[in-house]
Amino acid sequence: MKQVFNHILPVDDAGYYGKFGGAYIPEILHRSVEQLKKAFFRYAADDDFNNEYHQLLRDYVGRPSPLYRADRLSNKYGTNIYLKREDLNHTGAHKINNAIGSVLLAKRMGKTRIIAETGAGQHGVATATVCALMNLDCTVYMGATDISRQQPNVQRMKMLGANVVPVHSGNKTLKDATNEAIRDWCCHPDSFYVIGSTVGPHPYPEMVAYFQSVISEEIKKQLFEHEGRENPDYVIACIGGGSNAAGAFYHFIGNQEVKLIAAEAAGKGVDTDMTAATMYAGREGIIHGSRTMVMQTPDSQIVEPYSVSAGLDYPGIGPLHAFLATSGRSEVIPVTDDEALNAAFLLTRIEGIIPALESAHALGVLDKKKFNPDDIVVINLSGRGDKDMHTYMSYIDEYANK
Ligand SMILES: *Cc1c(COP(=O)(O)O)cnc(C)c1O
Repeated sequence: MKQVFNHILPVDDAGYYGKFGGAYIPEILHRSVEQLKKAFFRYAADDDFNNEYHQLLRDYVGRPSPLYRADRLSNKYGTNIYLKREDLNHTGAHKINNAIGSVLLAKRMGKTRIIAETGAGQHGVATATVCALMNLDCTVYMGATDISRQQPNVQRMKMLGANVVPVHSGNKTLKDATNEAIRDWCCHPDSFYVIGSTVGPHPYPEMVAYFQSVISEEIKKQLFEHEGRENPDYVIACIGGGSNAAGAFYHFIGNQEVKLIAAEAAGKGVDTDMTAATMYAGREGIIHGSRTMVMQTPDSQIVEPYSVSAGLDYPGIGPLHAFLATSGRSEVIPVTDDEALNAAFLLTRIEGIIPALESAHALGVLDKKKFNPDDIVVINLSGRGDKDMHTYMSYIDEYANK
């Protein structure tokens, strides 16, 4: 397989990861996507661009985010657990890494209007934040269901000056917001669409992974400082579309000794119809511009996904992850609502860290997999739980004193 400029991702020039990926787009977007591709590959190799990007990550986002050795959690599971603290980033999650890179690219391309979709609201907040910083017009599409369960983020976006557009189609969540954002882009091909995950037509999955790759770049340095070695035995991350996992895996993908584990949202269980575990419940198809695994009916209608966590409530998965999973490079472990909630309350109680519900799915893997006493396990804590307090509140009596 032909490798691209970074020689790291298993992707070819047309954006294929094995048989997954590509760019399945309406003709009207062809020119915009071509322009984006050109601009991304040009600026990703440009020192000025990368310097500005890394300076903002340092001075505005607060990077590097700490790699924290969680002693009490390690004792409980009889292994060595490190948490990569993306929850400590400005705006509370990893999404800001990509928002900074993408909006900076938009600015270089002379764009003045930004479109984004959002599920949990973290990508919307991150994009609205960078648009405020860089003085760009920002429109965010968000499903009506998500609007009601993620109110603090909706208010933040409005305060940041974004135009938040409620979406009432489908089950009114992330997939529907993405459809609407793509529709807007078709009407306004000169706008810049900032996608919040490693999904969408080429070059988005590769571009978003690149802007998130700072996570594993830092893990290597930080783990070396802690342990005298750069490579952990395991890296664990949750997967919605796959951007925090792509960032956490990125510099380890070529190193087979580092085992990669992706936690999917199983919802009420992979065998129920209330799940978002795409690798288990899905099959090959096309969604939002790329060929990948998709949850769908026998006649190829997309199935409404379900997860307690808005950021994982998506019926697809990025093509990179479909490839890593089907080729055996990564292991996908489904984690239910119940298991994620238990993990969230446990981390809060013994480490004093309230994780995002999405990140709690990655923590849920600790109960489902046996680790050796000398293993080094890095878990990407993709975000903080402030935005989920409304959901956690309704589970406190049930879970807090278990
Ligand atoms: C959006 C989000 C996710 C899921 O998106 P990925 O692209 O799969 O990373 C996970 N965790 C948090 C905190 C999020 O905001």
